[in-house]
Amino acid sequence: MAKVFNWQLNREMTYRFEEARPQRQAGAVFDTNKCIACQTCTMACKTTWTSGKGQEFMFWNNVETKPWGSYPMAWDVKILNTLGAQSWDGNTYTGKTIFESAEQGEYHVGYLPDDMDYAGPNRGEDELSSVMSEEKFYLKMPHDAWFFYLPRICNHCTYPACLQSCPRTSIYKRPEDGIVLLDQSRCRGYRECVRACPYKKVMYNHVTRVSEKCVLCYPAVEKGVQTRCMRTCIGKIRTFGFVSPPDKVREDNPVDFLVHVRKVALPLLPQLGLEPNIYYIPPIHVGSQAFLRMMFGPGAEQAVATYKNAMEGNDPELLGVLMLNVSTDRIIHKFNVSNGQVAGFGENGQELVRVPLKEPTIVRPAFDPTLAVYRYNTA
Ligand code: SF4
Ligand code: SF4
Repeated sequence: MAKVFNWQLNREMTYRFEEARPQRQAGAVFDTNKCIACQTCTMACKTTWTSGKGQEFMFWNNVETKPWGSYPMAWDVKILNTLGAQSWDGNTYTGKTIFESAEQGEYHVGYLPDDMDYAGPNRGEDELSSVMSEEKFYLKMPHDAWFFYLPRICNHCTYPACLQSCPRTSIYKRPEDGIVLLDQSRCRGYRECVRACPYKKVMYNHVTRVSEKCVLCYPAVEKGVQTRCMRTCIGKIRTFGFVSPPDKVREDNPVDFLVHVRKVALPLLPQLGLEPNIYYIPPIHVGSQAFLRMMFGPGAEQAVATYKNAMEGNDPELLGVLMLNVSTDRIIHKFNVSNGQVAGFGENGQELVRVPLKEPTIVRPAFDPTLAVYRYNTA
């Protein structure tokens, strides 16, 4: 086993292969505060990639309701229970990753879901995390009862468990953009990757008898276009682009800005050790800070405070980056906030989009002389 540096854990850890970071790493930020669980992303992905035989149960993009929801069933509870106690000392993880918990002769801990674990995505998920008692029948913030939506895709991890598990070396990480792909012509369906991925984002096709996973719409990304799930997001929660390691941060890169500069976007279950490259802005209304720390690591509370500060109008740059979400199909590499507007630029510096930080309010006169009609302003 090699020693590699995982910046999300702020320490070295063991992994099967030497550290080999791609030239650049595709990644994204999802703002959980804006997701409405419309599942448009889920269906955009499904109709593009998984509408064939043997793929009926597959959702490379799914949206689940936390704390209870999960697809496949209880994926997070099972892996966290297997991992045992997890602890942080400040920003340094002092517990064990899934690689360090492995028994002699194994590369990681993991489990293979049952077929029925995939049978009920979203069934009965929108349940509150507690019962409202009589004396709590009044509104206060945060609510005592809460839930939030968590969209999930493959994290195109820096240290993918799926990749290191494959006896056929069918899974590889592209050096040009860090996208993790599975070569189906090499796969023999051993399902080691399904067992290994703690996020359960590799799925087995019982008809073709090979495994499949999210390809991060690489044909689009190669053309400078965002993935299907990002472009179609109704809630405009998604910032897509490239994320740098901490020593190569570019402050004008939207994803770097959210992850490294403002530190408002955090990895999902960083303690597992994979250095996932999809980041989340934690929900601000959740009553349990301990739950957020478990899900997103020790920076969760500060991220919530930073986000609230921006929503109160005190951080135009952060607001500006978030206003760029889903404002263009193209990948934004650079942003700039000035004169009450945010502009997004492409790889070659060309302006792709310009958005006002505050939408203007236009009040029409009640009488329209052109058509000789009266109109109501409803906004
Ligand atoms: S999320 Fe799972 S499938 Fe995706 S790269 Fe990481 S280990 Fe592999
Ligand atoms: S399309 Fe956007 S808002 Fe709708 S469920 Fe997906 S991530 Fe959430």
